[in-house]
Amino acid sequence: MSRRVAFVTGITGQDGSYLAELLLEKDYEVHGMVRRAALEAPEQRLGRIRHLLNDIELHAASLDSFASLFKVVNRIRPTECYHLAASSFVSYSFEEEFETLHANVGSTHYLLSAVHDCAPACRVYFAGTSEMFGAARETPQHECTAFVPRSIYGISKVASFDLVRNYRTRYHLHASSGILYNHESPRRSPEFVTQKIVTGAARIRAGLASELRLGNLEARRDWGHAADYVRAMWLMLQQEVPSDFVIATGVTHTVREFCERAFARAGLDAQEHIVSDNRFFRESEEQELRGDASRARQILGWQPSYDFEALVNEMTDAALAATGEVVAP
Ligand code: GDP
Repeated sequence: MSRRVAFVTGITGQDGSYLAELLLEKDYEVHGMVRRAALEAPEQRLGRIRHLLNDIELHAASLDSFASLFKVVNRIRPTECYHLAASSFVSYSFEEEFETLHANVGSTHYLLSAVHDCAPACRVYFAGTSEMFGAARETPQHECTAFVPRSIYGISKVASFDLVRNYRTRYHLHASSGILYNHESPRRSPEFVTQKIVTGAARIRAGLASELRLGNLEARRDWGHAADYVRAMWLMLQQEVPSDFVIATGVTHTVREFCERAFARAGLDAQEHIVSDNRFFRESEEQELRGDASRARQILGWQPSYDFEALVNEMTDAALAATGEVVAP
């Protein structure tokens, strides 16, 4: 088989770590890009890929420098490139707005350009998001649904998505975008509601806390498992023709349902511990974001292996184990 070399930006994140595992299983040579600071403090910053460090090669580079990215891409000459790194502040402070937009659009542009210049046959995956649909005009959303982003993060992803499409048509780069709905796992960062809920339940179970404060319990999300979603990324790059795909479960659940299942799994009653807190409510959430992944099913043969219950159970069990609690029967 010909040489298969993958280059992953954002390799230290939830998706990057699952993707690196998948690529290693498939015998790829795996390279990851990290900030210099991560190499200097590996214990804190490389936690999710600690178990892979002997099998992958990490490169310190900066996504806000074309020269830096060019150097790495030119050295590695990847056959597949997965651009997962992004700054995802949802906050609206002024400086963060500028930083998010510039960092996300600039890095995508630099990377596309570097690949085009020194590895033009390399296949590129770009991590789009359901936030690009934002205040969508139809539900469920599919590949032809108009983008109405409602955050700077969403806007930065739409602009990057357009750049990817432009490099595909104008320079014939094999570049594809996944429009991924929320995807979770035991490796999810603690600021996301799913991880907050399972960690809260585990802490209550262990006697370390008595309540969990949350915002809108009726908010709905289309939640899948990150391990399933990175498989979709890989499948996209195995197609002869590059294209864009919605990746979603097509089923939504409320935050309340997530709580009920997680707490029940931990042997607790959610109602006794959940406290509504205005600080965690968000504005403009009336739109239901639910994805229609029919195209991915038909063309990629992709479908999720985890359902909602399996996802919540796995996350809850991991959180319980982390606090030393036994898994509920
Ligand atoms: P994202 O906003 O879809 O990227 O993912 P989050 O996990 O941060 O939020 C998912 C949903 O949970 C949103 O509709 C939030 O409004 C809702 N939510 C309710 N309470 C909380 C909370 O305490 N923290 C967070 N992060 N989200 C909450």
